[in-house]
Amino acid sequence: MDSSVVVVGSLNADLVFSAERMPDPGETVAGADFAVHPGGKSANQAVAAARLGARVRLVGAVGDDPHGEMLRASAEAAGVDVSAVRVVAGVPSGVAGITVDARGENSIVIIPGANGMLAPGDIAAARSHSVFEGAAVVCLCLEVPMPTVLAAAQAGRDAGATVILNLSPYAAIPPELAACTDVLLVNAREAGQLLGSGDLEPSSDWTATDWAEAGPAFVRAGFRKVIVTLGARGAVLLDPDPAAAVVPLESTPVVPVDTTGAGDGFTAAVTVRLAAGDSLEDAARYASVAAALATTRPGAQPSYPSAGEVEEKIR
Ligand code: ADP
Repeated sequence: MDSSVVVVGSLNADLVFSAERMPDPGETVAGADFAVHPGGKSANQAVAAARLGARVRLVGAVGDDPHGEMLRASAEAAGVDVSAVRVVAGVPSGVAGITVDARGENSIVIIPGANGMLAPGDIAAARSHSVFEGAAVVCLCLEVPMPTVLAAAQAGRDAGATVILNLSPYAAIPPELAACTDVLLVNAREAGQLLGSGDLEPSSDWTATDWAEAGPAFVRAGFRKVIVTLGARGAVLLDPDPAAAVVPLESTPVVPVDTTGAGDGFTAAVTVRLAAGDSLEDAARYASVAAALATTRPGAQPSYPSAGEVEEKIR
């Protein structure tokens, strides 16, 4: 079996401003520190997947600026094939301006830049360069335009790959995209946004029984196999085959220092283990360990564990 994976989506430079407290509207505060890190959900997922040992191809777009060079180089250094990351002339790379206060609270402004230029034509080009050929899993998020995500899902389906959709940041999903999705991955907040208000207001405090009752609402939204991540409370797997099974996945006890990018690490680990032939439940259990390890180290991309580290923790 070819256990290669294709990740399609965003690369952002994270510009992190640390200050004692957030400025109020109209106010200027003196900060304590500034750093630039490689980020963006798909770049994080690709790097995390490569560190777990998968062959990873990333499809995305960066600007012809120093951030773009840094983003391609850092993914490549992690072992990701970035030949399908297009450099768009005259457009800035995606950036996330992140302000972090002394309590660790953050506020973020994202400018999509070149990510917003990733078009269905890029997916067609990737197809013609056989990027999707032999892929076992295609992993998608929503930090790039919806028509591109849909084209990538169709490319994954045509290649016979399992398609994983990380519904982040939340957006309404066209039925054709739901139809091409094999596994939906959401956090508790995105689950709430997807299921809407009404009687169902998912929260990380929900019990397995609550999630079982929400199962039909996910099916009505077009999704059959769903993983909801619940931060320190772990995750829950919903699979209507066999009928409405709900599998609670306890989190791995760790002392977290920085949970940035934990969800991306979880998504990457599910992707890699499904590509290696695991069941969805086994893949999700492995991902709970990988994501927990990622919270024990600062940053997103530098925090992702190797397969050896995950296996060591499982033992
Ligand atoms: P996101 O980063 O998308 O908000 P979550 O906060 O739900 O996602 O975290 C994703 C996964 O990371 C969780 O399902 C869990 O496996 C792991 N995780 C997050 N925080 C912790 C923690 N404090 N202790 C152990 N595991 C954690």
